[in-house]
Amino acid sequence: MKTTQFLLKIFSYIPLSLIDCRTDACSLYFLSNCNMRCIYCQNYPRFTQEIPLTRKNFLNRVKNNWAIGIVKFTGGEPTLQEKGLLEAAKIVQECGKRIAIDTNGTRPQVVRKLLKFDIAEVAVDYKAPQEKYQYITGMKAHERVMETINILKDQCMSFEIRTTVVEPIITVEDLHKIAERLSKIDPPLWVIQFFRPTENTPKWLKPPKNDVIYDLVGKLSEMYNLKIKIRS
Ligand code: SF4
Repeated sequence: MKTTQFLLKIFSYIPLSLIDCRTDACSLYFLSNCNMRCIYCQNYPRFTQEIPLTRKNFLNRVKNNWAIGIVKFTGGEPTLQEKGLLEAAKIVQECGKRIAIDTNGTRPQVVRKLLKFDIAEVAVDYKAPQEKYQYITGMKAHERVMETINILKDQCMSFEIRTTVVEPIITVEDLHKIAERLSKIDPPLWVIQFFRPTENTPKWLKPPKNDVIYDLVGKLSEMYNLKIKIRS
């Protein structure tokens, strides 16, 4: 491939973050576009922007960034740019760094291909109980998300499952249903995230109350024998 050839379309880039990966300092690439339309998405107006990134540009950014050990791909939904993403993962590995990815879990076939690289961390969204998936995300994606989670589980990956709690669309009952489902998979970590309203999110959506979630997480953890972390 020529070094000037376009590799990825991104809408944002952060050269150094000390908080976005658990295991090392990372840089973040926000890949354009998503196949979901989550009711509470903060990035929707941004991920339709497409800034082309050439192979040469990406290679130089990764190679010359001495401060980082991980390159993280997020979005949008990074697996939609399959060809560029796999090529970018190869470049990251050749530069002696590791890969992290955030995914909505709808492209298990791409996740499977990524696992041949040196993956430091994967975060996969589990957004709602099965019957609410289409309402929350605009997509009947539950089966594919489960397939992605099972692939990660089979390969003993260090991965986390994430659920964003948004009032009034994700209820305590929903979290019980998700916990029950996850207890059958026994994932290494379930992260419950608080919704953060922005000017891009509908005004009727609210973050959950702190005390409700902290109290609930203790109960869910005990009832379903799950390792749960709260990210507020
Ligand atoms: S999967 Fe993520 S980026 Fe895509 S619409 Fe949902 S919240 Fe937004």
